[in-house]
Amino acid sequence: MNAPASSALSAPRTPRATLSLDEALARLAEGSAPHALTATESVSTFEALGRVLAADVRSALDVPPADNTSMDGYAVRAADVVAAGTVLPVSQRIPAGVVGAPLVPGTAARIFTGAQVPPGADAVVMQEQCEPMGADAGTVTGDGAAAFGHVRFLVVPAAGQWVRRRGEDVRAGATVLARGARLTPQALGLAASVGAGTLQVLRRPRVAVFSTGDELVMPGEPLKPGAIYNSNRFTLRGLLQAAGCEVNDLGIVPDRLDATRDALRRAAAGNDLIVTSGGVSVGEEDHLRPAVLAEGRLENWQIAMKPGKPLAFGAVRRARADAAAAGGEALFVGLPGNPVSSFVTFVLCVSTVLRAMQGLAPNLPRPLLLRAAFDWPRPDKRREFLRVRLNAAGELELFDNQSSGVLTSAVWADGLVDNPPGQAIARGDAVRYLPLSELVAR
Ligand code: AMP
Ligand code: MG
Repeated sequence: MNAPASSALSAPRTPRATLSLDEALARLAEGSAPHALTATESVSTFEALGRVLAADVRSALDVPPADNTSMDGYAVRAADVVAAGTVLPVSQRIPAGVVGAPLVPGTAARIFTGAQVPPGADAVVMQEQCEPMGADAGTVTGDGAAAFGHVRFLVVPAAGQWVRRRGEDVRAGATVLARGARLTPQALGLAASVGAGTLQVLRRPRVAVFSTGDELVMPGEPLKPGAIYNSNRFTLRGLLQAAGCEVNDLGIVPDRLDATRDALRRAAAGNDLIVTSGGVSVGEEDHLRPAVLAEGRLENWQIAMKPGKPLAFGAVRRARADAAAAGGEALFVGLPGNPVSSFVTFVLCVSTVLRAMQGLAPNLPRPLLLRAAFDWPRPDKRREFLRVRLNAAGELELFDNQSSGVLTSAVWADGLVDNPPGQAIARGDAVRYLPLSELVAR
C-alpha cells in the first residue's frame, strides 16, 4: 500500500483507515456539521417541495375554522328527532361556502358536505337515511319552510354525528411543521391549510459533481475501443437533484493529476460540496487522493462494506476572494467508480453529508424485518448491501448477480438487505430491508 503524502490536516487520522460503516457515517456527519447551511430564503409554497424548513410553521387559525358537515344530508338538533319516522319542515338550504342562519328549533336544514353546520344544529343525518317530502328539498323557490318542503328521518341521530369539529385538525397557535422538516407533498398541503402562502426554507445545497476516467464516453457519442459509457454522471446527478440540490455538473475529468486539481479548484468555487466518482483507489491512474491532498485535506477510508469499499472524505480550499464570501472550503466526497458501489455509497454516505449540512438527523432509515426468499450461504466478512425485491408474498427475492458493476441490479431492486458481516442467510430468515424509496432523496 502506498501511503499518501502526509498533510497537517489529515495527519490526525491514520492513512487509509478501515472503518465500519457506522463509524464512517458518524465521522461524515461530524465533519459536515461545521459546514451547515445557514442562509435561508422565502419561497412560494407552490415551489417548496423537497426543501428543508428554516422556521416553524404556526397556525393563526383553527382548522377547520368552524363545525362543518362531512356528509350531504340534513342538519338537525338531535333532540328534535326522537324516533325513526319523525318528519320536520326544511327551513333553509346550505351549500358549501354559504353560512346558514341559526336553525329554527323543530326544523331541519338541507346541507352539503363542507358547509358550516348552522348554530343550533348538533347533528347531520346523511341523505341516504332521509326521505324528502313535498316540495323538492333541493330547490330554492322562496322564503320559509314551505319552499323547501319536509323531510322524514329513517333513523334517530346521535348528537355530534357527521359533524367535523372546529379545530379538530389544527388548533390556533399550534406548530404544524417544525423547522428542519423536509417538505413532502402532504406537508405543503398542511402548510396551505393554515394559510401559509410562502415558506422560509434553507437555501439549496450547491453541489459540484464530476466523473473521472479516460475510458468514459458520453451517451450519444460513438463507443471507441476500450471505452464505456458514463453512467455514474447520470445516476449521481439524478440522486443530487432528487435530494433537492442545485447541481453543477463539471462533466468528465481526464485521469491526470493537473486536470484533477484544476477541476477541484473550479468545483470548490461557489459550491458547498464536491462529489466525484472513480479514481479513489490506490492505482497509479487514481489521481483524486493526491489532488485533494494538494488542494485541501483528505481522510481516505476503506469502509468495511460491500459494495463500495473505498471512500474519500475531505475538503478543498477555495481561492481567497471566494473564501471570504462563502467559507474557506468546499466539502469533498470521492465515491468509487463501479456503478453499483457509487450508487450505494451515495445513498448511505453522501446523503448523510447532505443531511448533516441541512441540520437533518443523519441516521439511516429504520429497516423493516422481512423474510428472505433466498439463500446466501457465503456471506462476505464485510457488511453487505444486497439488491433485493419484495415479492407478492411479502418476502424478499435476491437479484442473481450481486457484482458491483451490474447496474441492472439497482434498477430491478426496490431495496437493499443490510446484512451484518459474515452472516449467512437461509430461506425464511428475517433480514433487515431498507427500501430504496426511503434511501433515495432521504
Ligand atoms: P475506478 O474507481 O476509477 O477504479 O473505476 C472502477 C470501475 O468503475 C472501472 O471499471 C470503471 O471503468 C468504472 N467506472 C468509473 N467511472 C465510471 C462512470 N462514470 N460510469 C460508469 N462506470 C464507471
Ligand atoms: Mg478510474
